[in-house]
Amino acid sequence: MSKLAILAQRAGAGRVAAVFAMMVIGVVAAFGFAPGTTTEPDMTTRLVVRDLALPALTQAQTGAAYWREARIERGDTLGSVLARLEVSDAAAQQFLRTDQGARPLYQLMPGKSVRVETDDDGRLLSLRYLAQGGTMLSVERRADGFVAASAPPGYGVRTEVRAGEIRSSMFGAADAVGLPDAVTMQLVEVFSGDIDFYHDLRRGDRFAVVYEMRDVDGSPAGAGKLIAAEFVNKSVVYRAFLWRGADGSEAYYSQDGKNLRKAFLRSPVEFTRITSGFSLARFHPFLKTWRAHKGVDFAAPTGTPVRAAADGKVVVAGKQNGYGNVVILQHTGANSTVYAHLSRFAAGTKPGARVAQGTVIGYVGQTGWATGPHLHYEFRINNVQRNPMTIALPDAPPLAAADRPAYLAGIAPLAEALALGQVVTIAAGE
Ligand SMILES: [Zn+2]
Repeated sequence: MSKLAILAQRAGAGRVAAVFAMMVIGVVAAFGFAPGTTTEPDMTTRLVVRDLALPALTQAQTGAAYWREARIERGDTLGSVLARLEVSDAAAQQFLRTDQGARPLYQLMPGKSVRVETDDDGRLLSLRYLAQGGTMLSVERRADGFVAASAPPGYGVRTEVRAGEIRSSMFGAADAVGLPDAVTMQLVEVFSGDIDFYHDLRRGDRFAVVYEMRDVDGSPAGAGKLIAAEFVNKSVVYRAFLWRGADGSEAYYSQDGKNLRKAFLRSPVEFTRITSGFSLARFHPFLKTWRAHKGVDFAAPTGTPVRAAADGKVVVAGKQNGYGNVVILQHTGANSTVYAHLSRFAAGTKPGARVAQGTVIGYVGQTGWATGPHLHYEFRINNVQRNPMTIALPDAPPLAAADRPAYLAGIAPLAEALALGQVVTIAAGE
């Protein structure tokens, strides 16, 4: 291990543990660099992985609190389990037996574990129980009594941080650091209002992501939500953080609270594994030809999905001379978008149909006057073509002012985790 890597590790271990203890009830279980990454000729990125198991025993080993764990055996009752855990607390027993919120505990599943935190006198402070289906029950002692809460499966179960650098393609870089495809797609999606992943990607672009990995019944059950991400594109730093509103809504905002969802996507061509390296191999200098061309060409293999750039209504879905198979969408504010040379239309793309942003409306082809498979895309304002790459596109509403303090406090540790991921990446590249 190089000196720089050791420094990064030493600086990181303590800090990141603190970071994540705040975010989930977890703690760092592993911090390591992937073996053999330096032998890959096309890859200078090192892997940063932290597995954060939930619930953690180390959360509150301060003062007089103790965590204990007991496995539920066949024939166990709540009383026998609590006795094994050395919980001596009649009020707690009464609460756990009768409170509706503690319901997941009514059915004790043999083989599952109950974890409790007690004080010196055996009074219950907290309890964790991963119930059938992955629901996490948490019980906490408060000044005015106990409270029970259940988190749905997949919520904050395990969090990982990964960072990579783009050498040949987005997916190549993602694969090199073991980022699941589902997370790569979310990463691309979240920045798709700012970055056109077809034209804008450059060798040396970097990313760091914090994401959830779902565990159901203690086994990995696939990648979950992207929680935070940083993408450095052509030296410009973009950041995104997931905000879960009290009403259950979810949206991504920049570090200063700007909504990352844009009224129009930068690229209507779906970014896929097959096409992810395409822009690097065949960059289209669309700006030079803009005046004569009045559209943007996205070179992509036939059959690549084409998405509605914004919410709108289908006004044309048919054949038109040079355009070949073409879809025209009408949006608010006299804006319309044109998608030409399609090989075919998506089911449901019919005149009069309403489409939401991101809906697949057709597939790349070379119908009409096209020399090769590509999407010809136009952005029109009052039926006059405008360059979608240079006009300012409106933002979605920012974070509510009332939510701002909680948001800023919540993202601070995440921003630190992202920065650490990037620091390690840079150190390893030298
Ligand atoms: Zn064109």
